[in-house]
Amino acid sequence: MFFKMKKTLRDVDIRGKRILVRVDFNVPIKNGEIKDDTRIRAAVPTIEYALQQDAKVILASHLGRPLKEQKKAAEAGREFNQSAFSLRTVAARLGELIGRNVEFVSDCVGDSAQSACSNLAGGTVLLLENLRFHEGEEKNDAAFARELGALCEVFVNDAFGAAHRAHASTEGITHFVSQSVAGLLMAKELEFLGRTLDNPLRPFVAILGGAKVSDKIPVIESLIKRKVDKLLIGGAMAYTFLKANGYTVGKSLVEDELMPKALETEEAARLAGTEIILPSDHQVVDSYDPLNSRKTIPVDFTNTGLVGLDIGTETVERFSAVIKGAKTILWNGPMGMFEEEPFDQGTIGIALAVAEATRNGAISIVGGGDSVAALNKAGVGKEITHVSTGGGATLEFLAGTPLPGVEALEEIQT
Ligand code: AMP
Repeated sequence: MFFKMKKTLRDVDIRGKRILVRVDFNVPIKNGEIKDDTRIRAAVPTIEYALQQDAKVILASHLGRPLKEQKKAAEAGREFNQSAFSLRTVAARLGELIGRNVEFVSDCVGDSAQSACSNLAGGTVLLLENLRFHEGEEKNDAAFARELGALCEVFVNDAFGAAHRAHASTEGITHFVSQSVAGLLMAKELEFLGRTLDNPLRPFVAILGGAKVSDKIPVIESLIKRKVDKLLIGGAMAYTFLKANGYTVGKSLVEDELMPKALETEEAARLAGTEIILPSDHQVVDSYDPLNSRKTIPVDFTNTGLVGLDIGTETVERFSAVIKGAKTILWNGPMGMFEEEPFDQGTIGIALAVAEATRNGAISIVGGGDSVAALNKAGVGKEITHVSTGGGATLEFLAGTPLPGVEALEEIQT
């Protein structure tokens, strides 16, 4: 057992209490308009549950990196638009989503925040201004964390995507409140990425892709410890493995210095009974004539000027067959340069196979912005058992790294 489940706001008495919920409202806003409200929607179940309990709901979030941007603007002699980093617009959007007024206070600490929080009635919602307007947030400053803690009686962390950072609102605050628990979104992430993957129904198949092997090696090592049955590797990271195994890979992206580590990982997999499966054909372009040269070639690149940009059709079929035989599937990272058509085909093929396996009863867990974008492009985003909301946090959690924002929450005693 790798992971200990955390208490959620359902496990503690929040009735009528002031609860501070750390949410992730870091949404894209352009010219005052919210371009994608997925993250706001994701926080609604926790907020609605708290309101049913007649709790006084105080919400806190970051939005972008205002202090960094302000510094950059000052250095470049540009004007800094502070209001572009205000959460005020988010309060209005949240109000529409939950069908009630969401109060807003233009600071997250200090007199205005304190008086807004102490005057809250049961069953009302207040959104604090951007935490990152204060240096103390990212520095995990104790005095700032204490001020946040003083606003509430119970702390609820529902921002899984920010849990890998020890910031004042994710870790520091827990030292200044008597109870710190997970929100429902956080709990769902922990349930799937923690509990399900600790005790996977087998066969357990993982699919990893993307460009950077360095990011994924710790994940591979952790998956091998969990005795994943089959590990499919696609994307540019496959070229480091293929080259390490003596194949020529033309001008494809390779991290040469990681080839010994790739071989070491393969050996660890072999000893643990994990089968690593690499691509056997590729969509390539000629680096000297990229527009006219797209073709599928088998694994050994004889023309050394070729660049592999996607897995080939045979590989999609081989990988899909493995995926369709799985009972638990974990996928992180695209199979190719999927932002550029037609090099999205491998990734879309895998998305379709994962969706089909899920329809046939498998549990599927997908993380990483690129794989999630591919699911949506393939029109199967809603068919996946769990789509993780974290980027860096998901990878770190999968690699078995303790996340400070999760570690600080109360455990369920068993
Ligand atoms: P990562 O951040 O490591 O998950 O990598 C994601 C990026 O890898 C995406 O932007 C893809 O375009 C890129 N990528 C995946 N496969 C390839 C490839 N064969 N060649 C170049 N880039 C790739």
